[in-house]
Amino acid sequence: MRKKILVTGGAGFIGSHLCEKLLELGHDVLCVDNYFTGNKDNIRHLMGNTSFELMRHDVTFPLYVEADEIYNFACPASPVYYQKDPVQTTKTSVHGAINMLGLAKRLNAKILQASTSEVYGDPEVHPQTEAYWGKVNPIGIRSCYDEGKRCAETLFFDYYRQHQLDVKVIRIFNTYGPKMQPDDGRVVSNFIVQALTNKELTMYGDGQQTRSFCFVSDLVEGIVRMMDSPKGFTGPVNLGNPTEFTMLELAEMVLKLTGSKSKIVFKPLPADDPRQRKPDISLAKQNLSWQPGVNLEDGLKQTISYFRSTI
Ligand code: NAD
Ligand code: UDP
Ligand code: UDP
Repeated sequence: MRKKILVTGGAGFIGSHLCEKLLELGHDVLCVDNYFTGNKDNIRHLMGNTSFELMRHDVTFPLYVEADEIYNFACPASPVYYQKDPVQTTKTSVHGAINMLGLAKRLNAKILQASTSEVYGDPEVHPQTEAYWGKVNPIGIRSCYDEGKRCAETLFFDYYRQHQLDVKVIRIFNTYGPKMQPDDGRVVSNFIVQALTNKELTMYGDGQQTRSFCFVSDLVEGIVRMMDSPKGFTGPVNLGNPTEFTMLELAEMVLKLTGSKSKIVFKPLPADDPRQRKPDISLAKQNLSWQPGVNLEDGLKQTISYFRSTI
């Protein structure tokens, strides 16, 4: 069935891949973005498509449009950018969620929230299951993002209980791929751009901290499956690749795949940087029949070839 679908943050890294996928599936897509970290170049190739519409708008303000489904992705995701204007980051998550939930309530539309593994903070449970409540500093430099996203989850579940809204919440773990901004500041884009331009790779801390990286096409498949899951399956559900790497292992793989002679330079670890992160994806496997298929080496090759052609 052809649907009218709103994607907030649709000009961003994940949002632009999602818009592409939804158009491929035959839907009408309205992309809403204020271009804080997103970019028209990410969606320029969709502009000629009559099923695609683009609207410049900040989700902290009310939005009156029509839609059958809403994917709420608006929010900067890189620590460098979400810490640039932390008050706006919290507003985007909290006021943005209120406005999109109000919109969904008026339209009786299904709504999916892009939450994050950051709701687990610096986790004491490893790997992280959805049942774990997290260990988050409420007053630190990451809190605007972590607590904003936690409050958005609270709002989603209160609209579900209080207004019987059809809500879906996914907790996305570190995702990478083509269309990340070269200056985005996240580790995968930083290391690749540094390696390709013969600059030193900036390792924060001793490089023993871990992350689990999911390729964007795998993630987008999981996102759409979650939206299409039966009513009442609200999540939250973890979406990510459970294969865990240290940042040193990541740097070595990037150096090998780019053939770069760049050296690794060690810099201070930012405050509250989680020491380890790896999703337990049993819930997604069971309820969405989903699991990632692209391993880090293959995903990095595609991402490196994207950056080679753009920087
Ligand atoms: P991104 O920064 O590339 O995209 C975010 C988009 O939201 C950008 O286009 C930006 O301009 C837009 N935006 C920001 N504030 C806005 C506002 N107030 N109004 C309208 N648009 C606004 O980041 P991404 O990696 O594509 O992340 C997308 C979503 O997924 C975010 O909600 C993020 O928190 C979540 N997420 C991403 C990851 C990841 O690893 N990439 C992990 C966990 C969660
Ligand atoms: N809202 C919106 N678009 C709509 C409907 C509501 O942006 O189509 C916003 C509106 O600004 C409101 C918020 O969503 O403040 C929450 O709406 P809700 O109906 O839940 O609450 P109320 O209007 O009673 O504050
Ligand atoms: N990191 C790093 N060098 C960089 C950027 C990041 O060593 O140039 C580290 C960062 O401190 C963190 C990990 O890589 O431990 C992942 O960082 P990113 O910002 O990509 O994601 P997040 O911390 O939000 O998971």
